[in-house]
Amino acid sequence: MSPLPSPTGACPSGVRGELRFSESMADHNSWRAGGCADRFFLPADLEDLCGFLPTLAQDEPLLWVGLGSNLLVRDGGVRGTVICTRNRLKEMALSKPGTVVVQAGVPCAHVARFTSENGYVGGEFLAGIPGTMGGALAMNAGAWGGETWQLVRQVTTVDRRGRLRQRDSSDFTVGYRSVKGPADEWFVACELSLSQGDGAESRGKIKALLARRNETQPTNMPSCGSVFRNPTGDHSARLVEACGLKGYAIGGAQVSEKHANFIVNTGNASADDIERLVIHVRAEVLRVHGVELWPEVKIVGENAVVGG
Ligand SMILES: Cc1cc2nc3c(=O)[nH]c(=O)nc-3n(C[C@H](O)[C@H](O)[C@H](O)COP(=O)(O)OP(=O)(O)OC[C@H]3O[C@@H](n4cnc5c(N)ncnc54)[C@H](O)[C@@H]3O)c2cc1C
Repeated sequence: MSPLPSPTGACPSGVRGELRFSESMADHNSWRAGGCADRFFLPADLEDLCGFLPTLAQDEPLLWVGLGSNLLVRDGGVRGTVICTRNRLKEMALSKPGTVVVQAGVPCAHVARFTSENGYVGGEFLAGIPGTMGGALAMNAGAWGGETWQLVRQVTTVDRRGRLRQRDSSDFTVGYRSVKGPADEWFVACELSLSQGDGAESRGKIKALLARRNETQPTNMPSCGSVFRNPTGDHSARLVEACGLKGYAIGGAQVSEKHANFIVNTGNASADDIERLVIHVRAEVLRVHGVELWPEVKIVGENAVVGG
């Protein structure tokens, strides 16, 4: 029997954030699907997060979530504790000319706007990434030739004991939608380095990039953006489309008619519908083209117990 939701929850003493139990993760990802998290913590701020983490058992499974725009949470939900940074680690400031310090829960679009309004260029691509800075650091999110880690000078991480560390970008191995760094540390902030330029031109570029996105992507439907990484020298969308899969559906999950590397929730998709469609598309691309696609989307949590 699943525990009843407890919207306020009892936090360990001294912790100012919000601890929720049996929290629906469908409310915290852009596919709007998936099961519940045992515990879901929204820190009041960074200091509060550092106070909360050591109250957890040392082997407590942790899942860090920003805006859930690259996350498929299975229908059986998430055991352990979800740490949600969105709008909680929300500080952003120019620390010196050309350097912006951004906490992990700040939406990427706000970073793009803030930097261009302050006359800096190079962060425009962040405008179209519907995630947080923490998620962008974890994924090396990018678009139109720009990538998050091209801008990163330093990051601040936290470990399970709530200890903060400053790390240089050289402590991380960064590739296309891939970042590997010290185990059991998560991003709480970063220092971005930007060049001075024409703010008006930068704002114009953001406008054009967003318009292009609306033209080519199903931005009005729940999705997680591109499901698969692009294989070297090719595009996943081209390979999927050439298999005749545009519009193909399993339950409420459908390969977008507008962009074949997007899977959209047409209304009532379960996470299981979405995952079965991901598996089907992957198998078809392998059968037809002999190319193995790898998901960009992070799949987490447990399968629902059938009949349970
Ligand atoms: C319509 C649409 C368009 C998109 N377009 C693009 C695009 O052009 N380019 C692109 O790269 N992506 C794109 N995405 C995918 C997504 O927005 C990015 O991957 C984004 O960086 C994810 O950020 P998030 O905060 O939503 O992360 P989440 O989805 O919440 O998490 C993603 C991963 O990051 C980890 N994570 C989150 N926060 C932290 C943290 N603080 N510390 C450590 N790990 C953390 C999570 O555990 C998870 O593994 C798109 C998504 C959508 C829905």
